[in-house]
Amino acid sequence: MAFSALRVLKEGLTGNSGWTPHWRDPAPKDEYDVVIIGGGGHGLATAYYLAKDHGITNVAVLEKGWIGGGNVGRNTTIVRANYMMPGNSEFYSHSLKLWEGLEQDLNYNVMHSQRGQITLFNSDGARDAAMRRANAVINQGDDAELLSVGQLKKTLPYLDYDQTRFPIYGGMLYRRAGTARHDAVAWGLARGADRRGVDIIQNCEVTGIDTQGGVVQGVQTSRGPIRAKKVAIVVAGRSAQVAAMAGMRLPIESHVLQAFVTEGLKPCIDHVVSYGMLGHFYISQSDKGGLVFGGNLDGYASYAARGNLPMAEHVCEAAMTLMPMIGRAKMLRSWGGIMDMSSDGSPIIDKTHIDGLYFNGGWCYGGFKAIPASGNCYAHLIAQDRPHPAGAGFRLDRFATGRGLMDEEGTGSQHNLH
Ligand SMILES: Cc1cc2nc3c(=O)[nH]c(=O)nc-3n(C[C@H](O)[C@H](O)[C@H](O)COP(=O)(O)OP(=O)(O)OC[C@H]3O[C@@H](n4cnc5c(N)ncnc54)[C@H](O)[C@@H]3O)c2cc1C
Repeated sequence: MAFSALRVLKEGLTGNSGWTPHWRDPAPKDEYDVVIIGGGGHGLATAYYLAKDHGITNVAVLEKGWIGGGNVGRNTTIVRANYMMPGNSEFYSHSLKLWEGLEQDLNYNVMHSQRGQITLFNSDGARDAAMRRANAVINQGDDAELLSVGQLKKTLPYLDYDQTRFPIYGGMLYRRAGTARHDAVAWGLARGADRRGVDIIQNCEVTGIDTQGGVVQGVQTSRGPIRAKKVAIVVAGRSAQVAAMAGMRLPIESHVLQAFVTEGLKPCIDHVVSYGMLGHFYISQSDKGGLVFGGNLDGYASYAARGNLPMAEHVCEAAMTLMPMIGRAKMLRSWGGIMDMSSDGSPIIDKTHIDGLYFNGGWCYGGFKAIPASGNCYAHLIAQDRPHPAGAGFRLDRFATGRGLMDEEGTGSQHNLH
């Protein structure tokens, strides 16, 4: 069913009785050309672009829970293209361009809102680093603008500029950055893939990967074995566990990242604002009015999708330091997601040592913005057995050879610091 203004009007006048489910609920077949393990944003985008760009539709997405239950439905939804390292820079630029056409492409309102992101800096050194990043972004063909304190005061009047501990020196504005509604992204991609013939199979956990003589044969699942010519792993926080089913040991650790949301408020924060002092802090206001914010990882490896109280306190401390007005808001919910932290902080989209087995992961806490390009590049790799130019730097062997590492944060091989 196609969405249009006319359709919405008609359904509104006829009791909304004509809407049908967005995707089918098929039983798994015995065999597929491609099996995708993981129905998060990246898995669904891969299925969507396999069908749309490469005409490969005999595809199953196997999801152990439900669509949108993983990190794709748990993140703070910031979409931006301000990466600096060659490899990352062109990839995120590609992703932002895909975001800009995604709603028309999917015929689905993913509420992509290019409200602009402002990254604050609080020292001369931080301003230099911000300028360097901005110049790299501009060289890539994207946009960045330096804002003075005077300009910031007009744009973000609610910040505490008078604090002596971390005075604000200025900010970098990325106008095309913003947010999108996370669930809608998963639902829109699922619907788009399903309409092209992809089977989306929920409540189907992959428990084993079958190989013979170095060639993939299929997967074992909680709903029986499924044969496949190609198997694509894309399970975010569960990457190490699922890759271990094929005997692989990955340069990835899983860590918890929390997010927080307040009660719904009248519109007061127009941009995404991020702040590097006191750890890390970022905030935006959702379309429902809640202030959505977060900080750094909890700091230890874990598979628990919930976080610790010290980090909650730390994030609230940063929020109060930056914008004391937030102390008047009531915090409504907090939750955690399991982040697949790679040792250089950049992702992997590559073949594996097993013929027909592919791996996509290591998105750390930045994979929401990557969803369209990740799916686009992974589908290209699976269909054509050669990397897409925009994702060609995300090779798995860089961790073994040391060549082509993309340490965006410059923190060295410490998963929890990226
Ligand atoms: C609190 C928080 C804030 C974040 N904020 C941002 C942000 O502002 N901007 C940004 O760009 N990124 C952000 N991220 C990161 C982003 O959400 C992730 O990098 C991205 O969603 C990961 O990819 P995914 O959507 O495919 O993951 P997921 O949605 O987690 O998908 C993986 C799926 O694999 C399934 N799976 C696992 N094991 C199996 C198995 N054995 N068999 C079958 N299925 C399996 C899981 O159930 C899951 O549904 C944030 C993350 C969190 C937690």
